[in-house]
Amino acid sequence: MRSKIVAGNWKMNKNLEETEALLAELSAKLPDTNAEVMVAPTYVNLNNAVRHLESSKIEVIAQNMHFAESGAYTGEISADMLLNIGIDTVIIGHSERRAYFGETDEILAKKVSAALKKGMRVMFCFGEELEDRKSGNHFKVVESQLKNALFSLEASEWSKIILAYEPVWAIGTGETASPEQAQEMHAFIRKTIMEAYDTSVATNISILYGGSVKPGNAEEIFSKPDVDGGLIGGASLIADDFIAIIKAI
Ligand code: PEP
Repeated sequence: MRSKIVAGNWKMNKNLEETEALLAELSAKLPDTNAEVMVAPTYVNLNNAVRHLESSKIEVIAQNMHFAESGAYTGEISADMLLNIGIDTVIIGHSERRAYFGETDEILAKKVSAALKKGMRVMFCFGEELEDRKSGNHFKVVESQLKNALFSLEASEWSKIILAYEPVWAIGTGETASPEQAQEMHAFIRKTIMEAYDTSVATNISILYGGSVKPGNAEEIFSKPDVDGGLIGGASLIADDFIAIIKAI
């Protein structure tokens, strides 16, 4: 049985005081829900966020990690460092990491494998650019992103994977994929996984949608059968909006 998940990616936003204030408001307003609720603050505030949420149902996750165990990688963070402060889920492959930091499918495959080797859960992000959709190549692009980074995993390793389909043209643009477009792609992703693995892997994987999800469109997107929740950027920085999105699931 796959989990429902709502995760907030705070990106490079919120200083320490703002992080604590938002976490306090989210904890106080968190509705009773069966969904997993996660937030990904910036690195310097992760340790503090974990302590702050010790008795909360909200899980703190990381926005990124390096594939090496340790060593001369200035500015980077390892899986062990995250585990050491109580974080065992990491976002890998966000389109901003791919676009601005040169993260290729090959690098992402190494990161996924390094995280899984340490027993971490991976929220793997992928999705097509606007030109891919316009030229009708979106299914092909998504399939190749999945294949290149994930399809050498063992079937058993998929229990540690969460997928986040995020069409790049819908991230931070206010443009959302329609609920039908999201469902169509999520069903395609599940079918692709079923063909590469089996029905059990495909049925049990949580596939989140990300891209301008807001309180006003969350319920309709989440109502689609293959959409298991959302990865939320901008709206996760405003407590009432994020809470409304959690309520929508
Ligand atoms: C994201 O960056 O993962 C995202 C979905 O952002 P936004 O909700 O702001 O489009």
